[in-house]
Amino acid sequence: MAWYPGATRMELQPESDTQPAIRPTQFIIHSIAAPWTARRMYEYWRDSTSLDSHFGLGYAGDLGQFIGTETRADANYQANRRPDGTGAVSIETASNLQHTDPWSEAQVEQLIRLGVWLHERHGIPLRICRSASDPGYGYHRLHAAWSTGGTACPGDARVRQFRELVFPEIVRRATGQPAEEPAPAPTPAPSEEDFMDFTSLATTKPMTIQAGSWREIYWDVENQDGADDHGAGESSFLSGNHYTGTVSLKFAEDAPVGVSVRMVQEYTGGTSGEPTDDVPVGKRNHAVSVTGRVPVGRTLMCVVTNDSPEPVTVAWAGLRLLTWPL
Ligand SMILES: [Zn+2]
Repeated sequence: MAWYPGATRMELQPESDTQPAIRPTQFIIHSIAAPWTARRMYEYWRDSTSLDSHFGLGYAGDLGQFIGTETRADANYQANRRPDGTGAVSIETASNLQHTDPWSEAQVEQLIRLGVWLHERHGIPLRICRSASDPGYGYHRLHAAWSTGGTACPGDARVRQFRELVFPEIVRRATGQPAEEPAPAPTPAPSEEDFMDFTSLATTKPMTIQAGSWREIYWDVENQDGADDHGAGESSFLSGNHYTGTVSLKFAEDAPVGVSVRMVQEYTGGTSGEPTDDVPVGKRNHAVSVTGRVPVGRTLMCVVTNDSPEPVTVAWAGLRLLTWPL
């Protein structure tokens, strides 16, 4: 039984006593797809499942150890314990629900320190595992035999951090090399997929705008993006982004003179907006190109103004935008 002095001991019973011994030869890092503290992970392993990892690491750097590193834990499928008695030490790390976010600075530091200790205590060699059974360091998706049916864990951002930051720093500290000057920037450039987002919203209910008034469009259908990106049924849909795209309107009747579509920014204490386009007379379908920049602290809405002498009904509205952060 080996307990890492840098972790808070939260021993899982009966697993800690009943699971077979291993000789640890690998260190495998996971994301748990939940923004949990180490304590919460311990409670989950204890109360809700027979699976477990050796360590759990919260965003704030809180590190718990649940099982001694010379006892089998159950996070790595065939690598948990091999027939020759060797096995992997595993850590689950707090992440967002899709495990797409990078490790926090505190998590990176704790992973490095634990990695160094595992080299010193158990002699885990300072290399990235070249095969599923090769001694060394790795992350869950590195080898197929470490999971049942494949996994994306711990996520692209963390795989980059592991290769560019965490593992090189474990090697540097474990071998006593001086730090490089100047230190390389730890955050790699985001890929286009991380950078650009697509928002596609629509309405299901017609809305009538009385003569001489305006209404904002309430979007109650979301296509193609996650349902949690903005509240369903909300009128505001964007903040802290650039955007470019199209608003499409379908009127119940041919629109009279004096109808316009505007993108409006709402903030505490007011709104601001410019007329984006007038709807031409007698047109039933209309598409408006919109491009702009929404500062943090403001949200964007789409408003239809009716300055004609009669009510106007928008039967359907759709919005498609490419967005990217400021
Ligand atoms: Zn995993």
